[in-house]
Amino acid sequence: MKRCDVAIVGGGILGAAISYFMAHLNPGADIVLIEREREAACHASGRNTGKVHAPYLYDPDKKGLFARAALAGYSMWKEYAHSKGLPFRDDGVIEVALDPGQTATLEKYRRWGIRNGLGEGDMTMLDGRDLRRTEPEVHCHAALVCSRDASVDYRSLTAHMVQDAVSAGAKFLPGHDATALTVAGDRVRITLNRVGTLEADFVVNAAGGRSMEVAHGMGIATDYTNVYFRGEYWRAPPAYRTLTSKSVYSVPSNPRYPFLDPHWIVRVDGSCEVGPNAVPVFSPYGYDAASNARSMLPKVMEMLGSGARRTAMDPEFQRMAAKEIRSSLSKRAMIGRVRRFIPRLDPARFARRGTAGIRSLAVDAGGAFVPDVMVMEGPHSLHILNYNSPGATGALPFATHLIRTAADAGLYRNVLEDAACGPWRFGEVTHAI
Ligand SMILES: Cc1cc2nc3c(=O)[nH]c(=O)nc-3n(C[C@H](O)[C@H](O)[C@H](O)COP(=O)(O)OP(=O)(O)OC[C@H]3O[C@@H](n4cnc5c(N)ncnc54)[C@H](O)[C@@H]3O)c2cc1C
Repeated sequence: MKRCDVAIVGGGILGAAISYFMAHLNPGADIVLIEREREAACHASGRNTGKVHAPYLYDPDKKGLFARAALAGYSMWKEYAHSKGLPFRDDGVIEVALDPGQTATLEKYRRWGIRNGLGEGDMTMLDGRDLRRTEPEVHCHAALVCSRDASVDYRSLTAHMVQDAVSAGAKFLPGHDATALTVAGDRVRITLNRVGTLEADFVVNAAGGRSMEVAHGMGIATDYTNVYFRGEYWRAPPAYRTLTSKSVYSVPSNPRYPFLDPHWIVRVDGSCEVGPNAVPVFSPYGYDAASNARSMLPKVMEMLGSGARRTAMDPEFQRMAAKEIRSSLSKRAMIGRVRRFIPRLDPARFARRGTAGIRSLAVDAGGAFVPDVMVMEGPHSLHILNYNSPGATGALPFATHLIRTAADAGLYRNVLEDAACGPWRFGEVTHAI
């Protein structure tokens, strides 16, 4: 059995960022980052759209913290990517309204963006005709063009964060699955599959799609459950690279659900894709039929005893799910959702699927989707649940916020305002959000 000061479960972008800051704050401490896969960012953090989102989509009264993290994340990722020689494509984004009702939503987004800290000059409202002068392939009623939005490769950014954390003194344990966490006196005992156990004074549960399961294992958040949605992509042919200069999103058709409709994506390397949809699946790793078949029975049983049963019985949810499943089965249906505003797209020219990623969304006992991230304290532990988009954008400042939360709760010491954490001072980052 081994001992450490802090164990962070989950080597996604959030766990990597937490280990990075903790290792810089306290180089002498034993900080261990545990990851079940062979490398970091194999799941949501390495399978997303790669956008550094400008915070205009988030209601400042409900998602203010996330919005502030996204705002601060933009400059931090830019600085970090440049320092590592990694690409940061400052390409901006276009959000389109397809009718006058949606145009009112764009106006609201603009107001939210300003309240969340974007400058007046960062966003421009255009009518459809004006937009076509610069983006002739995009057809819409109105558009919000935001310049402070960028494209990156979060998988390689996460890998570099982990390397930096290790250089600052943290230990990275890939290929280690934390299968059980139990309180043992004033510590947490972590069972690592095939390896043995590790005892930690303090544990951070940043296990992404499995963080709910890990929390439940410690008796935390038992009123909540996770439901999973696979976001699939189709790769556009190289000839479409010049269709637009920016990614193009549309106002979500159903704001009740916490995901956006498929968009036109320009990736950091200039390649283009359509996606992601949101197909209900049975596991956070349900990328294919075999893994879903394996997880189906236990997940259905769990759903029957939780609020997710109500979610699944809701006719509006069923209509949404049917639409998403249709766009999983039919390429034409999927591309058709983006053709509404880029009519030139020809489904026949999309020959390959992209890399799908899975969102893990928390549902409460009443069957409602939880709109925001949940940070819960447990015995000698902090649990981060429902950490969804724009989670990658805000991961760096959000990690410092979590460390401060743990310090305020007396779960963690060693917070030095002035400590240099790579190019940043710890206190400056936390105060920014
Ligand atoms: C389709 C899609 C598109 C998205 N697009 C964007 C975007 O453009 N911009 C943006 O900002 N955000 C985006 N997001 C959201 C963003 O990707 C996530 O919020 C973020 O990656 C979550 O990071 P994480 O570290 O919490 O989770 P993860 O990346 O899932 O990492 C959790 C890690 O924990 C490990 N793990 C789990 N259980 C255990 C265990 N018991 N023991 C050891 N290890 C364990 C897993 O293997 C995994 O590596 C998108 C998400 C999806 C799914």
